[in-house]
Amino acid sequence: HIPVITIDGPTASGKGTVSHLVAEKLGFHYLDSGALYRLTALSALRKGTDLHDEHALAKLARDLPVSFKGEHIFLGADDVSAAIRAEEVGNSASKIAALPAVRQALYGLQLDFRKAPGLVADGRDMGTVIFPNAPLKVFLTASVEARADRRYKQLIGKGFSANMDDLLKDLRERDERDANRKIAPLKPAEGAYVLDTSNMTVDEAVAQVLGWYAA
Ligand code: C5P
Repeated sequence: HIPVITIDGPTASGKGTVSHLVAEKLGFHYLDSGALYRLTALSALRKGTDLHDEHALAKLARDLPVSFKGEHIFLGADDVSAAIRAEEVGNSASKIAALPAVRQALYGLQLDFRKAPGLVADGRDMGTVIFPNAPLKVFLTASVEARADRRYKQLIGKGFSANMDDLLKDLRERDERDANRKIAPLKPAEGAYVLDTSNMTVDEAVAQVLGWYAA
């Protein structure tokens, strides 16, 4: 029996950083499920695939030539680790993530990440859909202002340009889309612990998740 810790939450809630560190502390594997939606979106943008063409997008998702090497993500031979973090890619990812055939196409790929000694799965539906029997489920959230502030610093740090008003608007739109879509809407899974990190440091959030896991 291979344990899974699911960490779901809205965009820029700090899930990625916290999940990564929890996985590192426990020596577990890490699934960044958002990256799979971003990769599909990037692939579609590059090929000029219509973002409403559910069938074509599902095929792209099914045949993604993706590989993970340490911190780096490759699409074929191309290191796209930085490219998939662009706001345009994130926005497109959130649009195509509302298409059932795309989610279905990425389902099996996500299950395959469950390997010994354990997995930390980061996303929107890890606890509700992909790993509903996980022994620990966390819903990580933060105020929209705190998240916009974090995303701003992250983008600037990576050399992208950013504007606070645009980021707030984008985050609100994306929250709305993720929470109200018909398939796998963003919400805390049954039995999930809710952690609001607005006024928490990364280390405090990591310690809380590890504490719940140890309990
Ligand atoms: O977490 P991240 O911002 O990288 O995810 C990009 C988009 O992919 C999200 O806005 C969300 O709409 C979608 N997503 C999803 N289900 C997941 C992970 C991400 O629908 N498990």
